[in-house]
Amino acid sequence: MIAKVEPLTTARALRGPFDYRLPASLAGVGKGSVLVVPFAGRRVLGVVTALAERSELPPEKLAEPIEALEASVPPELVDLGLWTAREYCSTPARGLQLVLPPGAGRVRAKRRLVAELAPDADPDAARPPLGPRQRAILAALADGPRPAAELGSHAALRSLERRGLVVVRHAEQRRRPAQRAVGAHAADGLELTGAQRAALAEIVAALDGRGERRLLLHGVTGSGKTEVYLGAVAAALERGRSAIVLVPEIALTPQTVARFRRRFGDTVAVLHSKLGAGERHDEWLRLRRGEARVCVGPRSAVFAPLPDLGLIVIDEEHDPSYKQDGDPRYDARHVAERRAEQAGAVVLAGTATPRPESWQRLRRLEMPQRVDGRALPPVELAGMAGVAGALHERTREALEEVRRRGEKAIVLLNRRGWSNFLTCRSCARVWTCPSCDVSLVLHRAEGVVACHHCGHREPVPQACPDCGSVSLARHGAGTERLEHELAELVAPLPVFRLDSDAAAGRGAIGRVLARFDAAPAGVLVGTQMVAKGHDFPDVTLGVVLDADATLRFPDFRAEERTFALVAQLAGRSGRGPRGGRVIVQALQPGARCLRHAARHDAAGFLAEELERRALLAYPPFSHLIRVVCACEEPGPELAAAEALRDALAGADAELLGPAPLFRLKGRERAQLVLKARDRSAAVAAVRGAVERLAGSREHRGVSWAVDVDPQ
Ligand code: ADP
Ligand code: ZN
Ligand code: ZN
Repeated sequence: MIAKVEPLTTARALRGPFDYRLPASLAGVGKGSVLVVPFAGRRVLGVVTALAERSELPPEKLAEPIEALEASVPPELVDLGLWTAREYCSTPARGLQLVLPPGAGRVRAKRRLVAELAPDADPDAARPPLGPRQRAILAALADGPRPAAELGSHAALRSLERRGLVVVRHAEQRRRPAQRAVGAHAADGLELTGAQRAALAEIVAALDGRGERRLLLHGVTGSGKTEVYLGAVAAALERGRSAIVLVPEIALTPQTVARFRRRFGDTVAVLHSKLGAGERHDEWLRLRRGEARVCVGPRSAVFAPLPDLGLIVIDEEHDPSYKQDGDPRYDARHVAERRAEQAGAVVLAGTATPRPESWQRLRRLEMPQRVDGRALPPVELAGMAGVAGALHERTREALEEVRRRGEKAIVLLNRRGWSNFLTCRSCARVWTCPSCDVSLVLHRAEGVVACHHCGHREPVPQACPDCGSVSLARHGAGTERLEHELAELVAPLPVFRLDSDAAAGRGAIGRVLARFDAAPAGVLVGTQMVAKGHDFPDVTLGVVLDADATLRFPDFRAEERTFALVAQLAGRSGRGPRGGRVIVQALQPGARCLRHAARHDAAGFLAEELERRALLAYPPFSHLIRVVCACEEPGPELAAAEALRDALAGADAELLGPAPLFRLKGRERAQLVLKARDRSAAVAAVRGAVERLAGSREHRGVSWAVDVDPQ
């Protein structure tokens, strides 16, 4: 038998699959097996993409795999990984990496080796006598077996093994992430509303093969979408199918994850990057073996190895985190549709603020009312032109009222730090990042100015290095400064800050959210993190500062983003008996998306937005592909982008650019954007052109990043 193997190497030029001869000892190998193979003089991991009777190559030219790992990838996920690679202009190796058991070949081989003393070992009789390292290892093993990785010198351990003093073996030992107490599998005991029942009925019909299988649950904030997801998952399980529930970010959605655990108990596996490598591997295995039938996780969970998949839920489907940043730049929402199609499963995307593409393409299930029938909170738009300071008079009054009544408020400002830039008052010098063309942001508590793109930090300057002046000006306000201002304004109520500075580290976000939840009164201030689906029933005021900041960037999705951010934050307010209100501060409060958001009018916004997109032939009426060329020194990146433009001149697509981008992490950048009607033809054209140019000597030193459906 011949195995066609895709080696997991990063080289773009080496294209598999390559043929390997399977010895009798590897008879169990099939599509999806993960092998260690000799490749270009090294041992690398490879995935079997197919078996064949014979090879084009003569037998003596074929090598044999070294070994097969225990865990294999389900065959349909091999197809999905390869499809994702093609769809997003990446390499097969990168696509397969997405579907591999977590830590395959790395964690397993190293961490799971366990050493113990050989039963009849007599170290004192050893000749030649043992060295200090070997003695230390034996001493450490005196109390029982230990993981090999914890024993220091690997060479010393191996020599003890050779001398028969120590036994090293693979340990099959399962790690389970801490389980919350899970008692009865009962529902929360809620009676579904009429709208929830109607939506669920359509989903169940789809599961039973009746009706459209791609659904959009458009429910206003607080309409009880999670309860519908729970019902849909239960229905899938009853039918012997499994389910994936995608959430924007585990850390930001502890409530949602907890509700799934409460309802389904141990059959829920959670997959995310904050788990240890071993834990992740074991959760993956539980899914692979069918021991867990529901997977909750962020975008990467779309590749979870569940057999008999019946349902993929995409919670908060508008969330930008569903798009992957690095290669392959896949969109989990798009991959979910492909996977569901493969498996005959239902896709259920849910949100209060749908994306135009979902609105247009998916069958809509509407839940226009909050569960308790309470109205959505009134939203006031506050114009900031000519207003000094960060807060509008009306916002101050509203916060003052929250303080007086001992209530809760959420304040959103999508900017971290104290002030967003520093200048010298006498010579107008601006402090910028040495590696990126952006200004440095002041973080006062830490005493640094920092670049939010590359992480560069330096101490806060005391004087201007150009003119010596000690008079420096701070411009703009971020969440750190706002926290201080609010603390004064609402004292003695507590203020909780939620952003990636204040809540860094494992579990920190959850702790901030839990403290705000537990407090009888107070203010939660932070970046877009504060607007993410939280359900705090006693929040009576929501505030968005500088709501139109996003509109000042040239991006065709700016309006969609702004609308979603404002409508989502507004949705956090007024979920309890006291009701609530929302204030949106903006330089241009008349902006279309803000006016629609203030009326909670997603349908109206989307109708106009789709009209505008159609006129400009933007997605969903076309597909965009963005290629960014980057280089250490200025010049070659632009030449590369120009060469790409010339290479694509014959393609059936509109070409925008090349345009220079700001320098990032010490690299000069230029981008070319393709706008095409035929997605797969455009992807193929770009893939071909980039591969050719990236391989040519002329553009050596230039890196190429292809982004299909850039966000
Ligand atoms: P959404 O995700 O649509 O914003 P949630 O699913 O968070 O809404 O639900 C909002 C609140 O309403 C939650 O506290 C939830 O427990 C509650 N809820 C949901 N469905 C019902 C129901 N049928 N009856 C009573 N309360 C409900
Ligand atoms: Zn100066
Ligand atoms: Zn930088």
